[in-house]
Amino acid sequence: MASLPEIQCPTCQKHFPADPHSPSMPFCSMRCKMVDLNHWFTEEVSLPVHACDDLEQEEEQLPPPSPKEWRFD
Ligand SMILES: [Zn+2]
Repeated sequence: MASLPEIQCPTCQKHFPADPHSPSMPFCSMRCKMVDLNHWFTEEVSLPVHACDDLEQEEEQLPPPSPKEWRFD
C-alpha cells in the first residue's frame, strides 16, 4: 500500500494526503475547493462584467460629437 504524498491545501493551508481520486483535489475538502472557486468567480466575473457594463453605458450615454467636430464654416 503506497502512502499518499502530503500536499498543502491552497485554501486553508492544511497538510493532507493527496488523493488523486478525490473530487476536491488539490484541496483538502470540497468546502475548500468551493471557497477557492468562489474567490475566482467573484474576482474574474466582477472585473470583465464591470468593464462591459461601463462600455455599454458609455455608448448609451455618449454625448453628441464634441462641438469642435461640428464645423459650419
Ligand atoms: Zn483546506
